[in-house]
Amino acid sequence: MDETEVAKYTRRIERERAARAEAERLLEEKSLALFQANRSLQQLADDLEQQVAERTTELRLALDRAEASTRAKSEFLAMMSHEIRTPLNGILGMTQLLETTALNTEQSDYLGAIQSSGDTLLVLLNDILDFSKIEAGYLDLEHRDFDLDEAVSSTLALYRPMAERKSLVLDHTWGSVLTTHVRGDRTRLRQVLSNLLANAIKFTAEGRVHVNVSLRESADAFTLDVAVEDTGIGIPKDRMDRLFKAFSQVDSSTTRQFGGTGLGLAISARLCHAMGGEITVMSQVGKGSVFRFSVALEPAPCAAAPPLAPVPAANLVSGSARQSVRNKRLVLVVDDDRINRTLALAMLDRLGVIAESVACGEDAVTRVSAGDVDIVLMDLQMPGLDGMQTTHFIRGLDIRQPCIIALTANAYESDRQRCLAAGMDDFMAKPFRLDALGEKLALMSAPSV
Ligand code: ADP
Repeated sequence: MDETEVAKYTRRIERERAARAEAERLLEEKSLALFQANRSLQQLADDLEQQVAERTTELRLALDRAEASTRAKSEFLAMMSHEIRTPLNGILGMTQLLETTALNTEQSDYLGAIQSSGDTLLVLLNDILDFSKIEAGYLDLEHRDFDLDEAVSSTLALYRPMAERKSLVLDHTWGSVLTTHVRGDRTRLRQVLSNLLANAIKFTAEGRVHVNVSLRESADAFTLDVAVEDTGIGIPKDRMDRLFKAFSQVDSSTTRQFGGTGLGLAISARLCHAMGGEITVMSQVGKGSVFRFSVALEPAPCAAAPPLAPVPAANLVSGSARQSVRNKRLVLVVDDDRINRTLALAMLDRLGVIAESVACGEDAVTRVSAGDVDIVLMDLQMPGLDGMQTTHFIRGLDIRQPCIIALTANAYESDRQRCLAAGMDDFMAKPFRLDALGEKLALMSAPSV
């Protein structure tokens, strides 16, 4: 290799070295940039993760607060219901007792007014509590087998006297009905139908209130369609949208003329919705209205239980009920409220039952441990041992066990379930009627040995 070639070769080597050095520098620069970008990304990811964690904690706290506030609201409602029902039970119960004493016409009229005001107050209380409970998301729906024919007919029977007083025809027809044995919430279904019937009769001066019921199969369930049609005053088109809103009446003169809270339809609409259906209305002023509602029901696997014995409206106990109640030996009333104790004892006396009372759970356990008590009427909320704890102690006693009936101002379905789960045999919500108490005691089976 001559000198020129060596020089050329050396230059080429140097160029290549320089190029490699440049490539390495570039690589290093890019690696550094990549490393920094990566670090920024990591930082960003860490920041994001922290933000998500903080937000999750905030949301969890907010959720906890919302749940606590819903719980507090529902507890407040239950407490309010209890506190209002307790004195109302005293007022309505004592009024019923007074009604059975010798009264002159004037006194009878005054007493009738107290009774009807008390009844109105109770309806109002139930409506407000029902509505608030639904709004708070605490509606308990029953899933029990019942007979649709009985549920509809018995509801109509309740409104027949009201229709007759206004000389209205009240009748019902069945559309296509696959079966009358269904499963669902009989009480809530009757509540919606009752509300529509009461309104139809209230707002109809003459003519007819007609109910049509049909049950069709849809998907794997049944849909019940009920139409309540009247020939009443009708509802103006521009007022229809208010109907299902709470506390709204079509016009304010309605309240003065017919009473009511404007809650009935709002509750009915929410109940239908909760039962998987809806409620609609068609109306013409001066001609009448048709309210239609649907609810989803399930088929009942076998024939429903026989219909419940209707509670007679009169406040006198039938002879047979009185007789079978009398056969029970001893009833113990457990209630911390003095007036309610006095009332229960007076009612039991009217029913011809031997009764005693105690004011707290501790005394109830002591009294029952003697072994001669047949039926206990148990209040739930009491200072010291409450009704549930008292029941627990009584059930643990080695004695002939009494029947325990909760007699309480805690009137929700969930309360009934809690009472049965705690070992009680039955449940009665305050305020109760003398007649209903008599029926309940008569129905109680003979105490177990
Ligand atoms: P309320 O307890 O006041 O009757 P509702 O929610 O049941 O409350 O009814 C709200 C209003 O809707 C009533 O005050 C009345 O103005 C109107 N309305 C309801 N049903 C009928 C009907 N069948 N015919 C005419 N108006 C009705």
